[in-house]
Amino acid sequence: MNAPDSPFPFDSAIAAAADAVEPRVVAWRRDFHENPELGNRETRTAAAVAKHLRELGFDSVQEKVAHTGVVGVLKGGLPGPVVALRADMDALPVTEEVDVPFKSKVRTHWNGQDCGVMHACGHDAHTSILMGVAEVLASLRERIPGTVKFIFQPAEETPPIGEEGGAKMMIEEGCLAGPDVGAIFGLHITSIHNTGTIGYRSGPMMASADDFRVFVRGTQTHAAMPWRGVDPIVVSSQIVMGLQTIVARKMNITHEPSIVTVGVFHGGVRHNIIPDEVKLEGTIRAFDESQRNELHKHVERISTMIAEAGGASARVHIHRWYDVTVNDPALTEWSVPMLGRVAGAENVKVVDKVCGAEDFSFYQKKVPGFFFFVGCTPVEKDARTAAPNHSPRFYADEKCLKLGVKALSTLALDWLAANR
Ligand SMILES: [Zn+2]
Ligand SMILES: [Zn+2]
Repeated sequence: MNAPDSPFPFDSAIAAAADAVEPRVVAWRRDFHENPELGNRETRTAAAVAKHLRELGFDSVQEKVAHTGVVGVLKGGLPGPVVALRADMDALPVTEEVDVPFKSKVRTHWNGQDCGVMHACGHDAHTSILMGVAEVLASLRERIPGTVKFIFQPAEETPPIGEEGGAKMMIEEGCLAGPDVGAIFGLHITSIHNTGTIGYRSGPMMASADDFRVFVRGTQTHAAMPWRGVDPIVVSSQIVMGLQTIVARKMNITHEPSIVTVGVFHGGVRHNIIPDEVKLEGTIRAFDESQRNELHKHVERISTMIAEAGGASARVHIHRWYDVTVNDPALTEWSVPMLGRVAGAENVKVVDKVCGAEDFSFYQKKVPGFFFFVGCTPVEKDARTAAPNHSPRFYADEKCLKLGVKALSTLALDWLAANR
């Protein structure tokens, strides 16, 4: 036991409770892994979460938040502020290739194609880690100076087409209010780091993600008589090259990096016909909100002006998905030594920015938030060559789960103690 006057009186109790709950966290994770559910369809997962929180005697357990989300409130025995912990629950339309006994055999239809469903981003780990944290903190309840909100969120990987969902909708439905949250913490397991390590960054850590579509309208004609029409394939090719000059020539790359990628180029049905229309689709990533808006303007202007120069026309649609994930600098500075106590200071490292996006960013727009990475590639393997998150070969070492439980439990309790 820590001495009662220790500045960190919860450490030994958290360590013991995390040891005790670890086998169940592993079992939950295997169960979720074998039974993955896509965004806004996490009914089985959410039911398991809600049942667990109720059995622990939570003060309130709200289900069906933002379709399938669960929000649990655990009031401590002492007065104090409110801290939130967040996990995401959804899987991906990926066919698993990892040979584990609890391999997913679930299949679905995605965009008209038959494919598997897999927890290829590790959200099965996040959900079971947070269930483990719920058990740890419930066991310490009388000593907790404040309230802990547990946010189990659906559809982080974006909701199905035509539906709303994810963090944005959780916030709209009040998950940060009543009682009002003072700070929020979340984690993501990642195969680019080994088990036992924690990665973080102060300020912008993950990119914003927006997608764009450009419809380039020409005039259909015989491929052997191009002068009789306007070729949208040639115009669209020029647009693709024009879009590549935005980051290279228009953005201040000494401030933050950014990305414009065209991933879809659709047009034409036959080799000897110049079609009427070409559709381009792509993604825009930024680490600064003003640069993000600047990128949008450039994509719009370059597409429409190049089309006009070629005698065609272009319509541009940009959809804003996720904001930049920005770790509050003061909260980050406070959190790092806490994580050092859990993982060993030498295992807590500043990492490179990640061009992937996270809807944890929406919570951070409302309250100070800190998001960090927990390595999940076994120590005997080279993390530099491990299959990345979203790969059908993504593999999570279950040894990372207990570290996640301890990290979130420690951050929550120490933050409450420091801010009461
Ligand atoms: Zn993902
Ligand atoms: Zn993820």
